[in-house]
Amino acid sequence: MDTIKVVGKGNGGIVQLVQHKWTLQFFALKVIQMNIEESARKQIAKELKINQSSQCPYVVVCYKSFFNNGAISIILEYMDGGSLADFLKKVKSIPEPYLAAICKQVLKGLIYLHHEKHIIHRDLKPSNLLINHRGEVKITDFGVSAIMTSTSGLASSFVGTYNYMSPERIIGGNYGNKSDIWSLGLVLLECATGEFPYSPPDQAEGWTNFYELMEQIVQQPPPSAPSNHFSPEFCSFISACIKKFITYMFTCEFQCECRHFHS
Ligand code: ATP
Ligand code: MG
Repeated sequence: MDTIKVVGKGNGGIVQLVQHKWTLQFFALKVIQMNIEESARKQIAKELKINQSSQCPYVVVCYKSFFNNGAISIILEYMDGGSLADFLKKVKSIPEPYLAAICKQVLKGLIYLHHEKHIIHRDLKPSNLLINHRGEVKITDFGVSAIMTSTSGLASSFVGTYNYMSPERIIGGNYGNKSDIWSLGLVLLECATGEFPYSPPDQAEGWTNFYELMEQIVQQPPPSAPSNHFSPEFCSFISACIKKFITYMFTCEFQCECRHFHS
């Protein structure tokens, strides 16, 4: 493989565009640094095997993965349009008809992951939805977040990704496929308005306090699409996605815990 360029950096590692020497085919090579012990390595290898057996046009293909000098390397289908996060930075917001096209593809990918692979993505967000020049949108990094969170050494470096997490996951309760639907709702709403749906107390600084954001997600009524700017269909779809499935009692308990962290 020849390295062409770095296409992106995440919390855990870097993604490069590489080209196969003989076939000249392009791939994305994701390298995640992690120095872990043998048992955790075996677990990760097992989980990555699941990804390699995925065959769905709405899910990024994972061709191969291997360990090398304390790093996991994953060879992925190259998506030449980058991520929805990259796209959103350029266009600021995305009109409804395009969102519908994106949403349809992501939903098909989720149906595949949930019902055929029995995987909850757990980390659906704009940077994990990739685009190519054919206008295809595909889900990536499924299962990776499960590996990361179960691999203790990396848990702390994983904080940046809690924004799209559903209330039932935040409070550590039971969660299922619906958690991914919550994340999808937030992603679509962010794409429509151009802003992350939960606004921080200090606009200039953004979300600096992780517990404050968690508190808002758990305690506040779920965000919704402003009905004066979007179609009734879009608004009701978003509300159907961003539904809270936690009881009042849990909310109170969580509130106490948050106070404890603040003080
Ligand atoms: P985090 O580490 O917080 O999850 P992230 O999802 O942006 O953030 P990575 O998954 O490492 O981190 O991806 C980094 C960037 O690399 C993405 O935002 C995207 O622009 C690019 N990228 C990732 N995978 C591919 C791919 N298969 N094809 C093309 N570009 C990709
Ligand atoms: Mg990612």
